[in-house]
Amino acid sequence: MLERGEVANSWRNERWDSLRLLTPNFQSRLPGLRYEGPEPDGYMAMSEVTEFIEAFAKVSAAPVRTGVNVTSVQPADGGFRITHSHGVIHARAVVIASGACNLPSVPPLHEAVPADVTQLTPFSYRNPDQVPDGGVLVVGGSATGVQLAAELRLSGRPVTLSTGEHVRLPRTYRGRDVLWWMDASGVWDQRHDEVEDLERARRLPSPQLVGTPGRDTLDLNALTSMGVELVGRLATVRDGRALFSGGLRNVISLSDLKMERLLATFDEWATADGCAAGVGPPERFEPTRVPERSRLQLDLGSGEIRTVVWATGFRPDYRWLDVPVVDAKGHLQHEGGVAAAPGLYALGLPVLRRRKSTFICGIEDDARAVIGDLARHLASSA
Ligand SMILES: Cc1cc2nc3c(=O)[nH]c(=O)nc-3n(C[C@H](O)[C@H](O)[C@H](O)COP(=O)(O)OP(=O)(O)OC[C@H]3O[C@@H](n4cnc5c(N)ncnc54)[C@H](O)[C@@H]3O)c2cc1C
Repeated sequence: MLERGEVANSWRNERWDSLRLLTPNFQSRLPGLRYEGPEPDGYMAMSEVTEFIEAFAKVSAAPVRTGVNVTSVQPADGGFRITHSHGVIHARAVVIASGACNLPSVPPLHEAVPADVTQLTPFSYRNPDQVPDGGVLVVGGSATGVQLAAELRLSGRPVTLSTGEHVRLPRTYRGRDVLWWMDASGVWDQRHDEVEDLERARRLPSPQLVGTPGRDTLDLNALTSMGVELVGRLATVRDGRALFSGGLRNVISLSDLKMERLLATFDEWATADGCAAGVGPPERFEPTRVPERSRLQLDLGSGEIRTVVWATGFRPDYRWLDVPVVDAKGHLQHEGGVAAAPGLYALGLPVLRRRKSTFICGIEDDARAVIGDLARHLASSA
């Protein structure tokens, strides 16, 4: 196992200070290691995640070589030639486990933002102290965007949140964590070959969730109550003005509708599975309050906005992969983690084999299946 940094590198170095997992502690489980602390319904801070992954490296006795940066993987002699910061090795098979979130995904229109406006991404943002006083435009209404919008608003800054399609979820439902429902009801177990529109499922934004001691819901209503202004999806920046889509009401209705459908799925499962007795009664939530009139433009040169935070997602980085298996959009082409080159495998990508593939609790099933394929490849090519 070659790791360019340290064990748990992404959790150590690529996250903002206040971040906690949005998956509850009882879902922090890896083969042979699970959370056994006093707060199964709590959410780990980054230092705790790092300790958990470090503990797993010990439990699994994984042969990790840290501080080894892979700079190239090329097909060679029926296997691969791997060039790294300390030399070259050959392998008959390679598993790409380099992560799905190596870089912030920032739209090209960031170049049109006036030079005196500070621009941050989830990789460069650490805490509100580093952000200039004055207004902030957060672009992106998924987990990162809602969390950073709330934190910046609570620091006293005026915050505008630009949101397109998003996934609304309550933190708890019928007395249980909403991610308990995803897991227990089998929604997270849906296989990639059963998903109707796999491409879309793989691009689905992260849910509007935050891990707080109070198990708070952080949806758009919560942000509105804090005084965050909502605007539609950022369409473009022209002559220093940010122009927003007028479709805010539509994306909001759609996400309310999808949440209602998901909760109805949970209710059906709870009744059919006979576990309804162990949970509270069905709940329904207030529709998202749509602003009477959302602004369609913001003059970024007026001084109202001093900072733009791009919470527009993450992407993998395959610049080191010299095998023609990455498409024009930078996505690895694979079928359930088996890449389109013999001997090349992947883990940790969205809906790789199941809906839960990119979560810590999702890796075990995927790893078992992918390693099964890898073992068969090695046996047949020996
Ligand atoms: C902001 C954020 C919040 C998240 N919150 C949760 C959550 O609450 N719960 C949850 O279950 N999941 C969460 N996730 C998903 C999380 O990333 C995965 O659960 C898990 O960390 C993925 O592990 P991984 O090992 O596949 O990828 P990573 O953790 O990204 O690890 C990949 C490793 O590969 C190394 N690497 C990359 N390129 C090279 C190279 N060329 N040479 C050598 N080494 C290399 C990196 O240094 C890194 O250590 C979150 C993700 C993000 C971005």
